[in-house]
Amino acid sequence: MQTERLDASRPEDIRRAGELLRKGGLVAIPTETVYGLAANALDRAAAAKIFAAKGRPADNPLIVHIAKLDQLAPLVREVPETARELAARFWPGPLTVILPKADCIPAEVSAGLPTVAVRFPSHPAARAVIQAAGVPLAAPSANTSGRPSPTAAGHVLDDMDGKIDAVLDGGPCEVGVESTVVTLAGQTPRLLRPGHITLEDLRNALGEVEADPAILHPLKEGAAAPSPGMKYKHYAPKARVILLDGPFPLYRAYLERHAGPGVMALCFAGEESRLPVPAISYGAESEPWEQERELFDALRELDKRDARLVYARCPEPEGRGLAVYNRLIRAAGFEVERLG
Ligand code: AMP
Ligand code: MG
Repeated sequence: MQTERLDASRPEDIRRAGELLRKGGLVAIPTETVYGLAANALDRAAAAKIFAAKGRPADNPLIVHIAKLDQLAPLVREVPETARELAARFWPGPLTVILPKADCIPAEVSAGLPTVAVRFPSHPAARAVIQAAGVPLAAPSANTSGRPSPTAAGHVLDDMDGKIDAVLDGGPCEVGVESTVVTLAGQTPRLLRPGHITLEDLRNALGEVEADPAILHPLKEGAAAPSPGMKYKHYAPKARVILLDGPFPLYRAYLERHAGPGVMALCFAGEESRLPVPAISYGAESEPWEQERELFDALRELDKRDARLVYARCPEPEGRGLAVYNRLIRAAGFEVERLG
């Protein structure tokens, strides 16, 4: 299949994206978090194509994207007060809410679960495409399953060229990590995936919010994943990644002992020239927003440079840094070494 290149700044290209989606096609679209691979969420055959293009396991559900608040109610059994509160504070924006699903959500989209994940993105092109399509859009990240999420149209093409109908280029993504996912389907709201909207933000809005242990730790063998996307290795470049937890002088000393062919550093901005191996940075140490925005591009760059073993600087697993730590620790398959 020929993948059409569309430009998000051209109204006729937005219309074209809407038309392809209405006809059951697959279109990669920019959002404020990462590029999404969109299909009509109410069309099971269209949703099934997403799994084929990504090589996504059938048990990993999709997020449904809306462009108006009144599109939420028909997708879920009911809209609780907690959902209204979160929507008022954080929508449109990088927050996904899970609720018991309505019958119109096909099992392909919910991966057989009784719940559905819904998000109202803030990116103007994402909203315009949803409106042009006239239906809610199921859209996971537009990468090959397991690879780092795409934060630019070029990343999408690297993974999906020839496998999808079109990619709508809207430039680089502002947030750069996937949405915060919170489930409201249980007794207490529970954070399943950290993102730009933090646990503290959610607690300020709702009071009590639990943090799922799988955010920071590997699932125990045989345990059911509260969010299937939490399953083991994810977001990974081809190289083996090891997180080194400790201050810069110890990191540099460690790399001096472990330099060799194919060894690269994934460090904070400004550290590159002080390291004994080729290095790619992912934002300044004190700027978690920058780290969020740059992480996935840095992971893809390591592949382009043919890294075989990557030693990564470890972000603080707290506040805004939690989202970055959560992605990196999965890219590293939970391999962490404490320095000192
Ligand atoms: P992606 O869009 O590729 O970032 O993947 C969507 C994320 O949302 C994955 O981590 C899914 O496991 C999670 N998700 C989607 N729907 C549900 C649901 N109904 N229950 C729990 N997690 C979900
Ligand atoms: Mg994904």
